[in-house]
Amino acid sequence: MKDPNCIFCKIIDGEIPSYKIIETERTFSFLDINPIAEGHSLVIPKHHAQKLHEVPDEYLSEILVVAKQIASKLGVANYNLLQNNGRLAHQEVDHVHFHLIPKTSEEDGLNYRFKPLSKEHVDLEKVHKKLV
Ligand code: AMP
Repeated sequence: MKDPNCIFCKIIDGEIPSYKIIETERTFSFLDINPIAEGHSLVIPKHHAQKLHEVPDEYLSEILVVAKQIASKLGVANYNLLQNNGRLAHQEVDHVHFHLIPKTSEEDGLNYRFKPLSKEHVDLEKVHKKLV
């Protein structure tokens, strides 16, 4: 499935140029145009969907394999795999994409800290019941 207005669908079709890395039957990968670290890459399914849960399984199954291959090619010891869903979660391009971001220093790459919720805001029993 393609969206004619989607910038990443256009990259898959070659309508917009990209620094292509690996292309498979159901995935495409290329360098991020505004890298936050050298080698910052994107892996996308060849199926247009905004969010991860909307992508058919067969389009997702190759993504981690490709991310692994890119990580090996880059030869970096430290890196993050990031996938944003929705504006609040910092998604800017509405075609599912996985960032592979090398972490070569404290400054470059992904900078974040987990900030755990306070104990009174956490009900693990309740959430767990919803998930099983
Ligand atoms: P996100 O905030 O997760 O939606 O990230 C979107 C990413 O797509 C950003 O890191 C952008 O730099 C990248 N991006 C946007 N347009 C292009 C493009 N034409 N080629 C390569 N990367 C792009």
